[in-house]
Amino acid sequence: MRSIALTVMRWIAAIVAVAVGCAAAHAGRKTKSPKTRLNMPPGWTWPPSAKMKSDGQQCLARLTELGVTWEKGPATPKIVTPILLPKMAIGGVKLTSMWKKGPFPMDCYFALAFAERGAAAMRAAGVAEIRFAGIHDYRNVAGKNILSRHALGLAMDAFEFVDDNGDKHVVKTDYRDGDETLWTIEDNINDTGAFRLLLTPGNDPKHHYDHFHFEARTNTEAVVRRSARAAGPRDQASSN
Ligand SMILES: [Zn+2]
Repeated sequence: MRSIALTVMRWIAAIVAVAVGCAAAHAGRKTKSPKTRLNMPPGWTWPPSAKMKSDGQQCLARLTELGVTWEKGPATPKIVTPILLPKMAIGGVKLTSMWKKGPFPMDCYFALAFAERGAAAMRAAGVAEIRFAGIHDYRNVAGKNILSRHALGLAMDAFEFVDDNGDKHVVKTDYRDGDETLWTIEDNINDTGAFRLLLTPGNDPKHHYDHFHFEARTNTEAVVRRSARAAGPRDQASSN
């Protein structure tokens, strides 16, 4: 009897050991592959909160006010307020896809950054058309475990710009040659403050040697220069 009890005890001990080992292995695996960081604007969550949804509605109203033609976009992960631009134009600047066919869903705040300040900055640089490769793209930042703002529909990769004379300015070949239009775009867009990031061959030669990455600020990241505040965003936009 005693030896049977001992055998049972040994079996139980062995099973517990295996179970503990498995748990440890799982824990180990978890720490080896960290979860993707969402990289949301401050105060943003996924799924979107009620506040984010109502802010999105205000953004849409503002787009309408600024004369942008938009329509509701398809539900797209992780775009909070998805819209489409049927005319693919904002503030007198055409948006042309270079390779892919649309539709191109984007967050309302991306369009708003251009409608309020970005498009005027492009027009001031003599740009009539932006030739882009992509807007929404569900992926991480290159080489990092951080979700790209492309995944939120808040960024665009532009490879070429066409000016009012119809001349093309190619980032890959012309930026390093000191192309005035490309450099003016960079200065003007940075001056607007409407963009959280503008990556170019000048500030990120490794990943952005051939395109400009425009990343819009959202309502919770907004900054407005004092001089622009005095002029009022509406006055600026009306000069588009
Ligand atoms: Zn990009």
